[in-house]
Amino acid sequence: MASQMSLKALADCTYSEMESLVGNLGQPLFRAKQIMEWVFKHYELNPDHMLNLPLKLREELKNKLICMSSKIKEVSKSNDKTTKLLISLDDDEAVEMVIIPSRERITFCLSTQVGCPVGCRFCASGEGGLVRNLKAHEIIEQLYHGIAHSGKFPDNIVFMGIGEGLLNFDNLAEALHKMTEADYIGMSPRRITISSSGYVPGVYRLIELGKPFILALSLHAVDDETRAEIIPDKLRYPIAEILQSCDDYEEKIGRMVTFEYTLLAGINDSRAAAEKLSAMARKHHAKVNLIPYNKTTKEFKRPKEIDILNFRDILEEAGVTVMLRLEKGGKVNAACGQLRAKHMKNDK
Ligand code: SF4
Repeated sequence: MASQMSLKALADCTYSEMESLVGNLGQPLFRAKQIMEWVFKHYELNPDHMLNLPLKLREELKNKLICMSSKIKEVSKSNDKTTKLLISLDDDEAVEMVIIPSRERITFCLSTQVGCPVGCRFCASGEGGLVRNLKAHEIIEQLYHGIAHSGKFPDNIVFMGIGEGLLNFDNLAEALHKMTEADYIGMSPRRITISSSGYVPGVYRLIELGKPFILALSLHAVDDETRAEIIPDKLRYPIAEILQSCDDYEEKIGRMVTFEYTLLAGINDSRAAAEKLSAMARKHHAKVNLIPYNKTTKEFKRPKEIDILNFRDILEEAGVTVMLRLEKGGKVNAACGQLRAKHMKNDK
């Protein structure tokens, strides 16, 4: 039997790869289509459940492929029904995915890396730096764990979990291809949000994919000096370059960009900052997603409720579309990276 290391993951297979595998096993080619339909139309990675396949083929698939490389290690639920899954990977690393239900829809938040190289100073995920990139099938498996756990296919997917997805571009692009192409999962790219800390070269690679994903760029500040207090130098791009990439994204892809703005007391929550952010959002046709800080470090504080609402009102009065995300799941370690951080401490 081939070693686990050299096996391909089932969710990474293409149609032609599956056809050659099935052919090598002496099976008719229509079996490849049946398998791929189980995987990408029924979100099923366990050959034992692929009941229209001969028993021998099901066993062969288990020998020739890594069928499910990850598993749910811990489930953490908050009062508002947000559920966070800690998912352990085949090398014992862990990532998080979050199931966020609301009255009319369900959203899955997925991770793209183990740890994160950007190291935003308010973020638990960036604390230990990057451990490794997730492979495409590990991104897809998060989706499948979410479906199995919730019993629902998500209305929306947001890549806002652990990691800077645009720094793991090839694997993210491969996962996005499987998620959106009609032969595979076939979800509309319009329902998938790619969040980035403002990694400009990645925005241009995303433009090259030519699909109407929602792009959410984390500004967190309206001037480079303040932004430098929040995001370390090594992967931080100047605001002017980020804004230019927004304009190019809108022009080439035809979609408005969203600015993500984590509100930090005394750092970026002033009236002047709100007014400048309003002007930027209007000029670059961006929506604004306000995320009041949820206290994961001692360095930063969450603004008072009144200051949060005032900041939002200034944007709204300027005619900007604002979403105020009063963090779901904060009480159950469900904010970005906190469950994984707890898991790492427990393992020490
Ligand atoms: S906020 Fe996002 S980009 Fe910044 S360190 Fe955390 S995971 Fe990385």
